[in-house]
Amino acid sequence: MHLPSQGPQDAPSPEPDPPPAPSAYVARGSVQCHGMGCSARTGIACAYVDRRGRACPTAWCPSHRSVVDDTVYCSLHAATISAMRSEYGDTAHPDLDNRLPAMIAWISQAAEDDIVAILQGICRDRGEVLVSDPVRRVLLGTGRQPTWERAWKTCSAVGVGARVAIAVEEAQPTEVLIKVNAQVIARLTAPPDHLGVEPAPEVVELLVRQMVLLITMYLNNWQEEMEAELRPESTELKGERAPRPIAGRAQAKKRSRIR
Ligand SMILES: [Zn+2]
Ligand SMILES: [Zn+2]
Repeated sequence: MHLPSQGPQDAPSPEPDPPPAPSAYVARGSVQCHGMGCSARTGIACAYVDRRGRACPTAWCPSHRSVVDDTVYCSLHAATISAMRSEYGDTAHPDLDNRLPAMIAWISQAAEDDIVAILQGICRDRGEVLVSDPVRRVLLGTGRQPTWERAWKTCSAVGVGARVAIAVEEAQPTEVLIKVNAQVIARLTAPPDHLGVEPAPEVVELLVRQMVLLITMYLNNWQEEMEAELRPESTELKGERAPRPIAGRAQAKKRSRIR
């Protein structure tokens, strides 16, 4: 079959490209900026639209806006959007005034390096891979509590090894739950809520330090238990008190935590 040649020399000469649009970081709009004390009238509206189709009413000048994927957002919705993105595509956008996804995103950002380092150690020991889940709304516990959660886990072909999550229940927005292997190991006070403004770094830092300490202790313990499980019947243990099965111990801990 004879195909017409399509070399570049035969292509029709292209239209001259229009000048590229300025990046979202510097593009100038014409709306009053919502930045505190800012009088600039170069604001562009926050592009966030929630699951009910309501658009964020704020606009931001180049110095006060947040940008995700070359799109302008307020800081709350930039954090919300980046936190909820996953490789499986976009999920329903939380309500306009819901600050929990952004709160979890800000805390997770500060804690992520430490959590990932701890879990990577476990991955190396157990030959597993690290998987990171975006912020999601899940229904947890017997009461099916609506909860916002961000998680990291170590996985192998047979399932999840260790899992760490940072969560906030909708009914209890002042508490940050630290979960390890599906168990709530601590309830810490959430940073004070300043209407969707990112909390001060020192406040988050303090919270993250407590979290990382607790997670490290809990996972060290868990790893020791797992190693003991895997160890072949050791002769020196014979006659001594055998370790209780892990399930039993986990149950006992669980009972003391669950409300
Ligand atoms: Zn401004
Ligand atoms: Zn917004």
